Amino acid sequence: MVMMFNMEDDMMFTQPCLYKYEEVEQAVNPKRAELSDLLTYDKIIISSSGGKDSTACILYLLDLEIPRDRIIIWHQSIDGYPGEIPFADWPVTEPYVKAFGKAMGIQTEFQWRKNGFLGELMRENRRTNDVQFEYGGNVITLPTRNGKLSTRRKFPAKAVDLRTRWCTAYLKIDVMRRVLNNHPDYQVGKYLVITGERREESANRARYLNVEKHPCSKIAREVTWWRTVIEWSEQEIWDILEKHRIFPHPAYWLGFSRTSCFGCIFSTADQWATMRDIAPERFNARVEMERELRHTIDNKLTLTQLADKGNSILPRGIETGEWVRLALEGDIEPGDIFVDKWVLPAGAFTGGGGPWQDAF
Ligand code: SF4
Repeated sequence: MVMMFNMEDDMMFTQPCLYKYEEVEQAVNPKRAELSDLLTYDKIIISSSGGKDSTACILYLLDLEIPRDRIIIWHQSIDGYPGEIPFADWPVTEPYVKAFGKAMGIQTEFQWRKNGFLGELMRENRRTNDVQFEYGGNVITLPTRNGKLSTRRKFPAKAVDLRTRWCTAYLKIDVMRRVLNNHPDYQVGKYLVITGERREESANRARYLNVEKHPCSKIAREVTWWRTVIEWSEQEIWDILEKHRIFPHPAYWLGFSRTSCFGCIFSTADQWATMRDIAPERFNARVEMERELRHTIDNKLTLTQLADKGNSILPRGIETGEWVRLALEGDIEPGDIFVDKWVLPAGAFTGGGGPWQDAF
């Protein structure tokens, strides 16, 4: 059931969020904050991509014996309503996040921009699509009423600047911001938002604050933003997954160092070659899209040229076919999340040198 929500417009609140992504390049003037005793927060919201770093944040909270009913997992579905338009994301990501939340006994909710990546990519002389989120078995719609009518029809730029790398701004950050600003359960109180960036991932992330005032704070709602694993090494991340015997997102088994979108704009030539290898129809859809838009994801090369320069990173082994099937069909259940014998996946410690490293 889809409901329109009365408090839909951010401007209805006394202190609207400071971010307007049409205008903002990066987090503006982040304000340092102090972390309180974790048990003093009414709710701890973990923004989870399903990747190893946000998973580590959740496991760390459990190690600290934070009651599970104080924690909620929020996942921003890149392609819009879960499972509706398979375009940018790994098909297994949403089922994985849902299965993980169930296995952990932690409430898990999805939120998205209507029609997701494809809807924003093809935007023509209109405002960006509405934001929607799950609430109590319903889907709540936050209509987009502000902003100019404009045309996108360009892939996100491979840049730090969120005005041109619009995917992160429009499909992740702005979605979460609008949900937090308008969600009926989070209007009054003290909340902690956790994200999983790490300093060693990039020069940009190395500069992030550990704890800052979240831009969705207002007088009645204190929101603190904690990058829980910002100082952690990749080894420490894998260690905590091993300690809890967690089956990592299938992309890692296919040799990917990060669980980003399947066909992230920052994918390396090898990763494009891998996509062409395991999901040629997906790859070809992107190639067609480049032709239709007369715009390439890379500044210099077409996707085909990029993939031609790379080599599939798919590990060779008897289990690879099963990882591919799982990643593309997404039939993962809570019972699959804990494994008896934990093994480091092929994508671990392979992140060096990817072009995305300078961008996030
Ligand atoms: S993972 Fe890549 S393509 Fe997906 S939102 Fe982030 S930068 Fe954009």
